[in-house]
Order: sequence, then C-alpha cells, then structure tokens
Amino acid sequence: MERIVYADHSATTFVKDEVLREMLPYFTRNFGNASSGYSIGRNARLAIDNARCKVATAIGARSDEIYFTSGGSEADNMIISGIARANKNRGKHIITTKIEHMAIINTCKNLEKEGFDITYLDVDEGGIINLNQLINSIREDTILISVMFANNEIGTIEPIEQIGKIAKENNILFHTDAVQAIGNVEIDVHKLNIDALSLSAHKFYGPKGIGAAYIKRDIDFHNLIFGGHQEKSKRAGTENVPAIVGLGKAIEISTSNIQRYNEKLLNYRNYFITKLQNNLDGIKVNGTMINRLPGNVNICINGIDSQTMLAMLDMYGICASSGSACNTSSLTPSHVLSAIGLTKEQANGSIRFTFGDANSFLDIDYIANTLIMIIKKLRMKNRTKITYMDI
Ligand SMILES: *Cc1c(COP(=O)(O)O)cnc(C)c1O
Repeated sequence: MERIVYADHSATTFVKDEVLREMLPYFTRNFGNASSGYSIGRNARLAIDNARCKVATAIGARSDEIYFTSGGSEADNMIISGIARANKNRGKHIITTKIEHMAIINTCKNLEKEGFDITYLDVDEGGIINLNQLINSIREDTILISVMFANNEIGTIEPIEQIGKIAKENNILFHTDAVQAIGNVEIDVHKLNIDALSLSAHKFYGPKGIGAAYIKRDIDFHNLIFGGHQEKSKRAGTENVPAIVGLGKAIEISTSNIQRYNEKLLNYRNYFITKLQNNLDGIKVNGTMINRLPGNVNICINGIDSQTMLAMLDMYGICASSGSACNTSSLTPSHVLSAIGLTKEQANGSIRFTFGDANSFLDIDYIANTLIMIIKKLRMKNRTKITYMDI
C-alpha cells in the first residue's frame, strides 16, 4: 500500500471515529423523519435539538439562533443574500474584503446585479484588512459588513473583535465566515459583537454537506430555500439527521480541545518552516506569521511551478494544494495571493500545506524531506534547461 500523508486539512478533514459512531444509528435504527410524531421520528427530533444546542454552546449563541444548512457555502449565501434582501429598504451597501471565500465573493457579485453596491476591502501584505479603510468605507446606506474570521488559503486571522466594535458603533450588521476558524480559535459571538456567522462540519472532523448559520435573534432575513416548516420555516427540506448529529459531535470535540490542538499544530508548523529554510534558499511564507491559523503553511518557492510540484508530491503520496485550490482548472492566480501583492509568477509558485489531526511528527519530517528533494531536483532541471537554451 502506498503511503498517504494528508496535509490539506483546510480543504477538508477526515471524520473522527467518535463522530461517525454517533451518526450511525441515525442511518439505521433511528432513520425516522424528524417531523414525524412516532418514536423514531421523535428520536430524530431530539437528536437535532441536541446538536443545535452543541453548536450554540460552541460559539456562545442561543439554540434558536442556529439554522442547519447543506454546508458553509449555503450558510454564506443564506446570510449575505438573506440579510441584504430583507434590509434593502435601509440601504443597499455592503462591505466585504478581497480575500473572502468564493461563496461570499460570488454571492456579492450576484447581489450587484440586484442593485446592491459592494465595497471589497484591500488587505496588506500580511493578509489583514485596514481598519481605517473599513471606517472610511462606511456610508449612510451600509447595511452589512462581512469579513472572514480566518482565511482558507493563507490562514490569516482578521481583527474580528475590532470589526465587531466598529459595526456596532455604526449600527451595521456584522457577519463573519468562520468556517476555517472553528476548532482553531475561541469564538464568543457576544463578546465579539458578531450578528451572523457561517460554519461547516467537514473543516473540523465532521461530515461533508452539513453546516450551520448563526443569525442573531430579531435579525430579519429572507429565505434562500422555500418549502416546508423545517428550521422555523427559514430553511426548508427534510433534515439530514445523521449529518446534523455528526456536526454537533464534531463541534463539541473540536471546541473543547482548541489549546492542545493549537500547540500540536504550532510545533509542526515551526519545525517544518525551520527545516525548509535551513535546507533551501528562495522560500518565503505568504501572509503574516502573527495572526495565523496554527496549521497553515503557505509558501512561495522561487522558480517552481506549483502544479508540477503538486503532481510530484502526489507521486510520493503527499496531499497538499496550490494557492488556488478552487481554481485548479483555471489559469487565473489565486485572488487571495494577488490581494497580498504576489505577482502571477509568485502566486503560481505557491503551495499550501495545512496540518491537522491526521498528522504525526514523522509525517511532517517526510513531507519536508520530500519537498526539499523535489525542489532541488526541479531547480537543477530548470538550470540545465536554461543553460541548454543559452547555447
Ligand atoms: C470550505 C469553506 C467554505 C465552504 O464550505 P462548504 O461546506 O465546503 O460549502 C466557505 N468558507 C470558507 C472560508 C471555507 O474554507
């Protein structure tokens, strides 16, 4: 069997055994529709209520403020479009950033067609927004600010507390896409003045295709999906009970182990970066090292094409991704790497490793050694090619 070393936890994570174990009875014994009144239906309803409570507890919200969705993308769509459409009589201006996930950016692009005006804030070379630019962008008709908690490509953590304060002082709603932050950063929506938040189970060792939107009570928002009375008639469709149960268990485990998880990943990251820099020239970490997800290493490697690099890593069983994980089919460089000022060449020479619970120190060492070996080989080959052409 080929050895697989997984270092792409920001793309998705495996489902933990404890999580799967909790889910299984809801595929079999307790398969009932949560809207049915007999025992197996009631069991499903109780399981949903229990999971909702766990999600609420994890972020300091109330149970009735949590809506289950099909994932992070749907939560982002539901919150941005839903709040914008319900509040358009108050104004049609929204502030977001240039480094959001495409679920936010493309939702905003779509709202532009409906007559909304969107400001996309810049970030500095570390990947952090400028609070003065945020304040200066606020207008009479600004109804919503949406800034991601932590970036999925470079792992930078935005100044959420300050943004929440600014939003509150100006009486503007504040949403954060916390998909990458859950399980890595302590989040209390009240302390941070967060009015709406998106999360997704498969980024913290839960199943794919399930997520949640936190929307503070009394905030008006339009439906994205119409139908039955599920989720207080705000998100129709028979509930995915096993997935909801998995989400509840996964968020409980990951938010109660943040400190230990952080320490482990920080050790991996520091070891990895030090090893690379001790053995190679022309390696630069993309994004700030200060406010950053502990498991994220996004590096720009001089003279290397990331697609070639990833294909070679794959031959050694190593799973990593390029800066443009979502754009692998297109040739446009990552919008995030462009926003922090990388040239097209630098962006195309960047790769992302995101460590997680699947990894041991042995893995980190294996990845580092393999990477160093491949880079040396590729650079040697490039040099030969150039020499050849010079002749
Ligand atoms: C993965 C991700 C999403 C999308 O979540 P899905 O559950 O895959 O739809 C949204 N935002 C961020 C920051 C992400 O990393």
